[in-house]
Amino acid sequence: MTGNTEKHDGLPRVGFYICHCGTNIAGTIDVADVRKYAEGLPGVAIARDYKYMCSDPGQEMIAADIKKHKLERLVVAACSPNLHEETFRKAAARGGLNPFYFQMVNIREHASWVHTDKLAATRKVKDLSRAAIARVRFHHALDKQRVPVDPNVLVVGGGIAGIHAALTLANAGKQVTLVEKEATIGGHMALFDKTFPTLDCAACILTPKMSAVKSHPNIKLWTYSEVEKVEGYVGNYKVQVKRKPRYVDEDLCVGCMECIDACVFKEPKFRDKFNQGLGKRKPVYIDFPQATPKVVLVDPETCIQLKTGKCKKSCAEVCDRKAFNFEQKEKIEEIKVGAIVLATGFKTYDAGRDPNYGYGRYPGVYTALEVERLVNASGPTSGEVVLRDGKHPKAVGIVHCVGSRDDKSNKWCSRVCCMYSLKLAHLIKEHTGAEVYNFYIDMRAPGKAYEEFYDKLLSEGVHFVRGRVSDVTDWAMTPEEEGRLVIRVEDTLAGFVRRIPVDMVVLSTGLEPQADAQEVRRRFNIGCGTEGFFQERHPKLAPVNTFTEGVFIAGGCQAPRDIPDTVAQAGAAAAEALALIDAGFVELEPNTSHIAAEECSGCKTCVPLCPYSAISMEKAGENAKAVINEVLCKGCGVCAAACPSGSIKQNLFSDDEIFSEIEGVLTK
Ligand SMILES: Cc1cc2nc3c(=O)[nH]c(=O)nc-3n(C[C@H](O)[C@H](O)[C@H](O)COP(=O)(O)OP(=O)(O)OC[C@H]3O[C@@H](n4cnc5c(N)ncnc54)[C@H](O)[C@@H]3O)c2cc1C
Repeated sequence: MTGNTEKHDGLPRVGFYICHCGTNIAGTIDVADVRKYAEGLPGVAIARDYKYMCSDPGQEMIAADIKKHKLERLVVAACSPNLHEETFRKAAARGGLNPFYFQMVNIREHASWVHTDKLAATRKVKDLSRAAIARVRFHHALDKQRVPVDPNVLVVGGGIAGIHAALTLANAGKQVTLVEKEATIGGHMALFDKTFPTLDCAACILTPKMSAVKSHPNIKLWTYSEVEKVEGYVGNYKVQVKRKPRYVDEDLCVGCMECIDACVFKEPKFRDKFNQGLGKRKPVYIDFPQATPKVVLVDPETCIQLKTGKCKKSCAEVCDRKAFNFEQKEKIEEIKVGAIVLATGFKTYDAGRDPNYGYGRYPGVYTALEVERLVNASGPTSGEVVLRDGKHPKAVGIVHCVGSRDDKSNKWCSRVCCMYSLKLAHLIKEHTGAEVYNFYIDMRAPGKAYEEFYDKLLSEGVHFVRGRVSDVTDWAMTPEEEGRLVIRVEDTLAGFVRRIPVDMVVLSTGLEPQADAQEVRRRFNIGCGTEGFFQERHPKLAPVNTFTEGVFIAGGCQAPRDIPDTVAQAGAAAAEALALIDAGFVELEPNTSHIAAEECSGCKTCVPLCPYSAISMEKAGENAKAVINEVLCKGCGVCAAACPSGSIKQNLFSDDEIFSEIEGVLTK
């Protein structure tokens, strides 16, 4: 594992270290050969290979070598810098070397994982290593700048993830602003009557947490609001929040709901979004009795006063607290926070995209979320499972994996649908006594007490048919099928095609990223995975961190997950935010740009190009020079590339560093 060449060549003394990463790298790359090759390169004072360079012994070896061999530069060829650049910078510092006299070569993602030809891959690693050794000679000693952290936190999204994160942070003494785009917090969980696998009442466990948010002295709750703009950097974000008008003063309304009774529309007439369109509401409304905040709002699309200005306004008349204000306007508020937790949740798959299942064509076909409202005591039918035609179902078919595990729609398993299908099967049977059939591909019940819940359903007499449903139609072939919906499925256990007549079909729709996920991720400068869910920094080691420092993710916005996992993840995101804030300061990467004032012509090309608004003109007038706020600069390099006079330089990306790296790759 060791090679030791004590030569110097008048160049800075470089230590070169190549990692086997078990067989991750060594399975494809001949690391001993690369090490021997590096030993012969100019300036390399020592070269070593080691099984796990990131391990404690690996790091200690580097630190000890720096002292013993008086190393002046360090190159590590291993995995991605995203994972271990910081690890090796720290090892360099422990050895007494400035951490920026270091260059990392990614030979795992860029070589061993993407090539099968051992010889060619080893040759490529030699090229990359040679380039890094050439480049690192030109590195300069740099220092990280320390800036204080704002102790306040923003939580975006008021589902169970956002609620739990906000309460955890607020209980730890932090000031939290919780921004929710709907009129109430609660998210999807507020729609449920019971939750699997324990069948405990969703409202009984959710509403105490919702009211704790509302009454917590450390939480500012902004519902009906959305984040418009985010500026700044870790520890110091400036956020603009759009607050939509409710036309009702939140501080005055007590949610007595007399205004709803007094509305000139005597009967509810408009689609009730909260009840998934199964009920109607008036222009002045509240989503559900436990809505938080318990404040009514007026819908500008349907309110006569807001549309025409010609209404008796009996809602406002009856309000003795004078809470109505039809002149209310949208407003933008600005807050400063040190950390952000994104908990914007998911949406369910649009069942209309699979015409075979008849959603929207047959009134007897429902989505799972609609059935959550039907079985709910506070839903549009007060918990009575009654069909759109007023009848009660005698047989119900629940179709799993609608918009999940399917090449035509979404490939991923949505993780909760098997379990919520079991829950709905139980509740429908309990409410109606109907025969219930579950049509599944594979039954996935991997959580705590989940398999036992499945067993319970089997013992309750719910039928399970293994196979993907081909279609749902009303084409009767027998008198028994007359006037009913027919589910056609290949029963893969029995080995034949079955036709099962039912009165109601429930489509267990999968979980998808929110429709505006791309917009939101751009606003917060984070990434999305290929499916469109927010991207975590590392799936195992940093599952709630993002690649933007100080922005954390939790719950259904990161991937489909059940409530226990969501709550656990929200707690983790809150803990990460706390760790950041309680440190009191952050260290900024020094890969920033700076301007050689004497070379700057003051042309202003760089100013509008900077995506972080970090560049301004020093003063007005003809001789004004551009200046860069290094705290705002994120080191993207746009200004340095665009500067016509070449007066903008970027740390770690100087011309010397870049050209020597290119020459290093090309010159054998
Ligand atoms: C039909 C069905 C039944 C289920 N039943 C169960 C069950 O019984 N047990 C169980 O453990 N799990 C169940 N689940 C899963 C459960 O719904 C999720 O685990 C949970 O809702 C995830 O919570 P969340 O806060 O991450 O997301 P959500 O509940 O989706 O909440 C996200 C919140 O963020 C808000 N938001 C979105 N975008 C923005 C924005 N840009 N700005 C501000 N706010 C925003 C939304 O309005 C919403 O309030 C079920 C899921 C479905 C679809």
